[in-house]
Amino acid sequence: MTQVCEHHQTLFSRANKVIPGGVNSPIRAWKQVETMPFVPIKGEGDTITDLQGNTYIDYCMSFGALILGHAPQKPLQAAFAAMQNGSTYGLTTEIEVLIAEEIAKRTFCDQVRFVSSGTEALSTMIRLARGFTQKNLIVKFDGNYHGHIDALLEDAGSYAEEIKTGKGSSGVTVSSVRDTISLPYNDEAAVSALFSRPDIASNIALVLLEPVAGNMGVVPASRRFLELLREKTEAVGALLGFDEVISGFRVHPEGACGLYQIDPDLVAYGKIVGGGFPAACIGGRKEIMESLAPLGNVFQAGTLSGNPVALAAGFAALQELQENVYQELARKTALLLDPIEKALEKTPHSLQKVGSMFSFFFYEKAPQTRPQFSPESRALFQKLFRMLLKEGVYFAPAITEAQFISAAHTDEHLLKTREILLRFFRDQS
Ligand code: PLP
Repeated sequence: MTQVCEHHQTLFSRANKVIPGGVNSPIRAWKQVETMPFVPIKGEGDTITDLQGNTYIDYCMSFGALILGHAPQKPLQAAFAAMQNGSTYGLTTEIEVLIAEEIAKRTFCDQVRFVSSGTEALSTMIRLARGFTQKNLIVKFDGNYHGHIDALLEDAGSYAEEIKTGKGSSGVTVSSVRDTISLPYNDEAAVSALFSRPDIASNIALVLLEPVAGNMGVVPASRRFLELLREKTEAVGALLGFDEVISGFRVHPEGACGLYQIDPDLVAYGKIVGGGFPAACIGGRKEIMESLAPLGNVFQAGTLSGNPVALAAGFAALQELQENVYQELARKTALLLDPIEKALEKTPHSLQKVGSMFSFFFYEKAPQTRPQFSPESRALFQKLFRMLLKEGVYFAPAITEAQFISAAHTDEHLLKTREILLRFFRDQS
């Protein structure tokens, strides 16, 4: 653990007095790695500097939001310019139209509706799917995380893994998960068995998944699995929903839909779409999206939804994210990870990556479904996290989280990280 200066200690104990656990989102407490979080004061490119003046190469990147790195100039300038004219109006502005057009151009979506967080996008998606299909059941997959929505927390990944009571959280009622079914990820037999029951299949409103899961480590869906979901949902008039809050505009210029060339009926984007500001959206085909109020009877609203400052940053970020950036991200990912992947072949550890997101597994074979995070693997992750931190490298602080490479990562920093990781894994064998 890094040296803890008095100011940092004081700030953290003040935070603990006035904010539960000192954090506004539980993963930030670094509980899984039993380390006191540093307090960032500046982000620049691929680094964060903390209150004590330590600088870290960042692979958490605000849990994937910062694909262009910290303080990217064009999104920041766009946000600043928008802000000069006021920060919110409660009316549709031009920037909302521009970014919606950009998303419609890149993806299968005819229409999008903006909200402020991924959680909000997914809660809109489940209501819209139910309203459109007039059916009730939501099918989701173990280890996927879709925000802190009552109906979707059971068997969820990310920090929800740590909650051992109730239906994924204390305070979630039995009735709010009565219409939720959670199946093993990538398990074709489980899906086929469920859809073979006419009483269930005829009442499924939405089959929802992360097409590239990033909340149980990085675990991509197999193409065959996605094709099966597409086939089964179509056959019974259920909707297929992709949660691309992480994978959207990360794993491919069009997100996972582009990577797999499979169109769902509905999709949620977040993180990258806000260019580092709070914005997310749900998108889909016109006939489904037009069920939303004011055209249809599915109610959804938000005072700060489609906020012009956030969307100015998001639009500028999307404009930066052209083919050449994805090529550079692929090169950087290979620079960091290819030799490590080779070295891991001879060890009981593995690595899984899709585009510029990756995670290590402390098992010989990278999992295809939700992994069992054994106490031994948790301990090894904790050891890795602490060692990296000591050497000036910041990994997302839990074994369930993905690590992210940004366009701002320098070759020098990637090579430095690579050496440390190779040394860590050499020392384990
Ligand atoms: N969906 C996925 C796949 C996520 O990873 C997250 C958050 O990490 C969410 C939804 C929820 O998004 P937010 O934290 O913006 O509410």
